[in-house]
Amino acid sequence: MFADKLIKLRREGLHRAIKDRQSAQGPRICIDGREFINFSSNDYLGLANHPAVLTASSKAVKEFGFGGGASRLLSGGTVLHESLEHKTAGFKGAEAALIFNSGYMANTGIIPSISEAGDVIFSDELNHASIIDGCRLSKAKTLVYRHKDVDHLNGLIKEESAKSADAQKRFIVVTDSVFSMDGDIAPLKEIFDVCTSHKSRISADSSFLLYIDDAHGTGVLGRGRGALAHFGIRPEPWIIQMGTFSKALGSFGAFAAGSKDVIEWLINTSRSFMFSTALPACAVSASMAALDLIEDNHYLVEKLKENQDMLSSALIDTGFIAVRTETPIIPLKPGSLRDTLKLSGALFEKDIYAPAIRPPSSREPMLRLTVTALHTENDIASLLHALKSSRF
Ligand SMILES: *Cc1c(COP(=O)(O)O)cnc(C)c1O
Repeated sequence: MFADKLIKLRREGLHRAIKDRQSAQGPRICIDGREFINFSSNDYLGLANHPAVLTASSKAVKEFGFGGGASRLLSGGTVLHESLEHKTAGFKGAEAALIFNSGYMANTGIIPSISEAGDVIFSDELNHASIIDGCRLSKAKTLVYRHKDVDHLNGLIKEESAKSADAQKRFIVVTDSVFSMDGDIAPLKEIFDVCTSHKSRISADSSFLLYIDDAHGTGVLGRGRGALAHFGIRPEPWIIQMGTFSKALGSFGAFAAGSKDVIEWLINTSRSFMFSTALPACAVSASMAALDLIEDNHYLVEKLKENQDMLSSALIDTGFIAVRTETPIIPLKPGSLRDTLKLSGALFEKDIYAPAIRPPSSREPMLRLTVTALHTENDIASLLHALKSSRF
């Protein structure tokens, strides 16, 4: 039964296989005994191997051991968990924060917890799969608006508010800050304004929420502080900032940052938080060290921006992309799935690791190039050279 389905996947070019590393994550990785220049990692600042992160993590292993041994509400957490939450809240300008075990678990745990039957969630059509799954787990109705289309969003909110006489009904706008596949940035200022204009018509303060998934914005935008800082939007009690420690922070886990009430509500109702063993202290400690590094020096974030600009300008000059990218995520779309796989394969032959992304991970087949602060000018030149000589 599954064998037939697998054959079909293969025939359609949609079959994927795992390629595990024999080396640490970084700009150069070793797979099957071969060294590649890696353009597929979300470790944008190169913190996954930073000495300060490794030291903090080993120190925590020595002090607290490895496994958490229980959920946070039992005995799974440590004082490090609490201090990371305190630090994260400050970093995000929020009153409070809560650690989740992963970004996937944060979205699937938070969205059903902040919404209930009768509520309406407005979700961008290109939101991350974990948001889509979070909406599926929620008892609220989900309406999908066209990608970054604020007029469409505004229209849907208007329609819904005209329909309802129910003052208890809550509206929740949910968006990625940086879209994970195309690397484009959500128009958060306009979304914020739309929310504010509707919010002022609705009496209860808790009736309107803006939920931002800042997985790829944290450590990258706004001098590392994320999307709200990038847009100069002040965190408000009705805004929930979700983010991950697993991408630019080079660690593991995720967080929600928001008002004290929201965080206390999540502690008491979010199932992925309540029913899962707490993150090990060493992961928590690594995230703490990563936040310290970003706060204390801006060099890494600036270097990342420099590399991103260098690569994207060169890709424009060579006609591979049309516009400068706003983030370290640079999608190349050669066209058909076949051409995408061919280009990825040609790069692989030239020791460049840039696997093809295909449905359902992205809407269109693409090479999702990610550049990091640790790539050298030579690494970038090698990629460009390989791309030019692979053109067909
Ligand atoms: C990666 C990602 C997640 C999931 O985070 P993990 O910590 O890897 O589970 C959630 N949302 C977005 C937008 C992401 O890119």
